[in-house]
Amino acid sequence: MKDFFLSIIIPVYEEGEALAESIRTIDGVLAPLEIRREFILVDDGSTDQSWQVIKELAQEVPGVCGLRFTRNFGKEAAIFAGLAVMNGDACVVMDADLQHPPALIPEMVRLWREEGYQVVEGVKRTRGQEGLKNKICATLFYRLLKSFSGIDLNNATDFKLLDKRVVSALLQMEERNTFFRGMANWVGYKRASIPFDVPARQVGKSKWSTWGLFKLAVNAITSFSSMPLQIVTMLGVLFLLGSFLLGIQTLYMKIKGVAVSGFTTVILLQLIVGSTLMISFGIIGTYIARIFDEVKARPRYLLAETFNVKDSAND
Ligand code: UDP
Ligand code: MG
Repeated sequence: MKDFFLSIIIPVYEEGEALAESIRTIDGVLAPLEIRREFILVDDGSTDQSWQVIKELAQEVPGVCGLRFTRNFGKEAAIFAGLAVMNGDACVVMDADLQHPPALIPEMVRLWREEGYQVVEGVKRTRGQEGLKNKICATLFYRLLKSFSGIDLNNATDFKLLDKRVVSALLQMEERNTFFRGMANWVGYKRASIPFDVPARQVGKSKWSTWGLFKLAVNAITSFSSMPLQIVTMLGVLFLLGSFLLGIQTLYMKIKGVAVSGFTTVILLQLIVGSTLMISFGIIGTYIARIFDEVKARPRYLLAETFNVKDSAND
């Protein structure tokens, strides 16, 4: 297997404490495979000693390359920065906190080398020690995404092995608001999945806030489906039908000489229609905001510093 070249891409944000240990562990798992490897560590604007640790690691572990963003651009941007500079025949994208078990990598590599799978995904068997709120929100999100876009990402993770052809397909997708998990599914290719149990985080804590997750979810749904817009249209049609029936009834009552009463109905209708309109504007507005983001065509990230990285790294 010596002639294969594997890139390990790891987004790093405030992981100073655990990073060195993680890389050593991953390197230890890969060593017996005797494959050429590089570690692309993308520092997503950490304020702790992460960048220092990355530079020190480069002295200790062969094949460590570093990229540092000018600020925190998010995990998605960090993954794409890694994809843009990787040199391997395939890459493995994984977290810095060992919540993506490195022990799975040899099996991923085997499926890729021996069985010709171009995408090998780590899929959560259990959702680890997540809170109930997270579990409910995640289930709801994946259901919505599936029924809107047909893309089934339930229990999918960012832990993936991708062949370099898949990587170049991903790099052709020029959207600014990326959703790696969805995009890696959208491209197709021959795929396999490996189930795993998510271990608890050893050091530090998860960087995701509820608001951050909500933004990711909205981003994912608006990127992969225009169904919410169709729902707005369908609601409009439904309301029109309703008002048509109500209109006929009102006219009939009028002809029969029964005075039309119904203050409550009027108020309720106003409130229902008013709030539905506002939600609809919100949905349309969200798509317009997405279009605005895309036409501005700003870079996905800006690099402050790199080492051991081929040029043209800035996206
Ligand atoms: N991460 C990042 N930028 C961010 C937040 C997180 O690059 O703004 C990285 C982080 O360093 C880790 C991975 O994304 O390697 C997963 O983050 P975390 O463990 O906080 O998320 P969780 O495991 O809860 O999904
Ligand atoms: Mg984690």
